Amino acid sequence: MVIALWWIRRDLRLHDQIALTAALRAADAVIPAFILDPVLRSVSPRRQAFLMAALQALDHALRERGSYLVVRAGPPLETLGALMAETGARLILAEEDFTPYARERDERIAHQLPLHRIGFPTIRHPASIVKPNGMPYRVFGAFRRMWRSTTALNPNSLQPAPIRIPTPPGIPSLPLFLERAERFDDFPPSEEAALERLRAFTEGEEAPIYRYHRDRNWLDREGSARLSPYLRFGMLSPRRAAIAAWQAMERAPHEEARRGASAWLDELVWREFFITLLFHFPNLAERPLRPEKGRIQWREDPQALQAWIEGHTGYPLVDAGMRQLRATGWMPNRARMVVASFLTRALGVDWRLGAQVFFEELLDGDPAVNVGNWQWVAGVGADYASGFRAFNPTVQARTWDSAGRYIRRWVPELERVPDAYVHAPWTMPEEVQRTARCRIGVDYPAPMIREAHGQRKVE
Ligand SMILES: Cc1cc2nc3c(=O)[nH]c(=O)nc-3n(C[C@H](O)[C@H](O)[C@H](O)COP(=O)(O)OP(=O)(O)OC[C@H]3O[C@@H](n4cnc5c(N)ncnc54)[C@H](O)[C@@H]3O)c2cc1C
Repeated sequence: MVIALWWIRRDLRLHDQIALTAALRAADAVIPAFILDPVLRSVSPRRQAFLMAALQALDHALRERGSYLVVRAGPPLETLGALMAETGARLILAEEDFTPYARERDERIAHQLPLHRIGFPTIRHPASIVKPNGMPYRVFGAFRRMWRSTTALNPNSLQPAPIRIPTPPGIPSLPLFLERAERFDDFPPSEEAALERLRAFTEGEEAPIYRYHRDRNWLDREGSARLSPYLRFGMLSPRRAAIAAWQAMERAPHEEARRGASAWLDELVWREFFITLLFHFPNLAERPLRPEKGRIQWREDPQALQAWIEGHTGYPLVDAGMRQLRATGWMPNRARMVVASFLTRALGVDWRLGAQVFFEELLDGDPAVNVGNWQWVAGVGADYASGFRAFNPTVQARTWDSAGRYIRRWVPELERVPDAYVHAPWTMPEEVQRTARCRIGVDYPAPMIREAHGQRKVE
């Protein structure tokens, strides 16, 4: 009897699961295995907790199919070797993983163990989208054109979850316990929740995807899909998501609706773009894609950084975004752009410090997507030529949170501040400050800077 290990990494799902399907074809029995790598356990306690909860859900789904998850802890090479010896497994199948750490780890393991990498966490393999001269794209527009004109999205190619997974009984597994008691109300950590959210976003004539291009930037309503943590952990297949977008385009009731679905598909292509960039330029976390643009004199200002982290800058939208991030591990894209721009452009603090804070806190924290976006906002990365990205936090707040609902939700000190002042509370006359019970500099900070250290005025 041939036994295969299905080594699960960033693909915590059973649908469109190419590595699992290959394991089932190659072997009589399959052992789904997850290795708690001590190296990765130092990063982001919040993502660790989300991962643990997601593994519990995966174990549950496996048990419904006659299988179960085998969890082990230790360095992957030794731990996999020991598990093979213990169970008699002859081969390991795993989805490819493109982070620099994962690629190096997998290369080492493939030299010593029969590791077969099959499937990948993107829709197109990063090596497959290059310029005609073989060089990687550095500009999104050109990458997008190539991606969209050469990618076939075929619904028939999607594999359903297997009905039964034969697994030898009685293999010991570490218990999955949550070190940090945390509820993930906004993102229930299961594949089922991810698929349901995709369905609700993309299916039906009134589907939110059809309004995405108009609604996605509003901070006080849910105009985006809220799928990023699921894509980050592979609880949702990116191919499945892209095919849903493509089908929505095909079925769009009118041209305007089609535009919404197409805009959403483009966001998935942004994800592909940043993952592809890190694949080709593995030092991106440290080195800007455009080093010539990266020769900025960043300011050392630990106090300013701390005020930004804690959401005490005196700029309501920046503070709301940072407080939401710390409380929930998520922030809408518009708020991410504004807070990142504030740190790098207004405070003049190095984008790498901001990226570290995001990477620690974000449920969807992804080495490629996070760094790519930070470089983009700081103007040292992809598409550097397309303009100077400084988002004025007050103008942005007035535009995208006009009634101040988002601000008041995350900055309760401003709850009673009248609409006319909620975006710029330092303009409140003293009398209004008293009645709103929000004295500037006492109950809520005065703006920490008036003149940006970058080239733009902050207010
Ligand atoms: C400074 C900064 C850091 C960011 N860090 C991350 C990160 O670590 N992980 C992460 O997944 N996203 C990151 N983003 C991108 C974006 O903010 C989130 O993907 C998005 O807000 C997730 O919400 P959603 O699922 O509702 O997205 P939707 O708007 O519904 O988009 C659908 C999917 O497309 C992808 N996507 C959307 N916007 C982007 C983008 N700008 N770049 C790449 N992919 C995108 C995501 O996978 C997202 O789930 C960052 C953006 C900024 C400005």
